[in-house]
Amino acid sequence: MTEALDISVTRVERSKLTGFNFDNLPFGKYFTDHMLEADYENGEWKSVEIKPYQPLLLEPSLAALHYGQSIFEGIKAYKDAEGNPFIFRPYDNFKRFNLSADRMNMPEVPEEIFIEGMRQLIEIDKNWIPAKKDYSLYIRPLMFATDTMLGVRPSEKYKFLILLSPAGAYFSAPLRIAVEEKYTRAAPGGVGFSKNAGNYGGSMKAATVAKEQGYDQVLWTDAFEHKWLQEVGMMNVFFIINNVAITPSLEEGTILAGVTRNSVITLLEEMGIKVEERKISIDELTEAYKNNQLQEVFGTGTAAVVSLVKELKYRDTVMQFDVASFKLAAAVKQRLADIREGKVEDTHNWLVRI
Ligand SMILES: *Cc1c(COP(=O)(O)O)cnc(C)c1O
Repeated sequence: MTEALDISVTRVERSKLTGFNFDNLPFGKYFTDHMLEADYENGEWKSVEIKPYQPLLLEPSLAALHYGQSIFEGIKAYKDAEGNPFIFRPYDNFKRFNLSADRMNMPEVPEEIFIEGMRQLIEIDKNWIPAKKDYSLYIRPLMFATDTMLGVRPSEKYKFLILLSPAGAYFSAPLRIAVEEKYTRAAPGGVGFSKNAGNYGGSMKAATVAKEQGYDQVLWTDAFEHKWLQEVGMMNVFFIINNVAITPSLEEGTILAGVTRNSVITLLEEMGIKVEERKISIDELTEAYKNNQLQEVFGTGTAAVVSLVKELKYRDTVMQFDVASFKLAAAVKQRLADIREGKVEDTHNWLVRI
């Protein structure tokens, strides 16, 4: 990497913090005083700026709007018991961001912009990190194509931004989930493993149809047979069968490699639980349910961390679960909270001080 980039800083004249109400925080609705913005042109990143959060002026011919080169990340920052800010596993998101960039034919963002820029931005807006238990500062890095012409080709210009949004304790009520057999989220060779905007756009119809039928989200299945399980909504999925944790494997490229998924696998193994990353079908799942061996079903992701599934519908089979009995989901959630709150040692160096 080249010499350290200069990040220019323009501060707000008046902070929005005065009088800001941390008690009412719908997810992703409010943004802090500042944002980071960088532009890519002629093969290099330039003009890295931290400046007041503000609207962008964009042309209607913006390539990202037409052809979808647009990727993002989701990360959280917290305050420790002494009030010092830290970020949870940002290097993992940094690596994944550049994997997404590669798949979408976009340029890499260097560490000194993604990580160092994020650090400096949070340092400036650190008073926006809520100090309350389970509250956090949600960090949203994103990059999109900014060429202004309608020819179909990879854009030559891109914009990278980091936004910060204070977030309350994200309580996800136990979910009712329908197994999806019509729509597909991801197929081998596709873009399912990347965190690109279109994956979200393509998934909304299925979720809306599920909601009309009384479900919160869908359990995605494979594109060919609609029987191999993939993810639950926009979360990774775990099944506990006979005290073994099973989660779909990553190698077909149809699963987003969640940082929370990886943390949960690591912690379950430390607790002595066997974890299998492999293909699992809806038939195996319903069979295990009928034999009283399916103990827990839960989703994992940065926003809610762990979301419990209380009902799973597949054709005429309705599987119901007593989420109060989910021991492993509760244990990993607690373990993650203990690491964040400094109650147990952070042996994996997941907490990155600012
Ligand atoms: C972001 C995301 C996840 C969760 O990833 P985390 O790193 O744990 O937040 C899971 N599935 C999909 C499709 C996602 O976009």
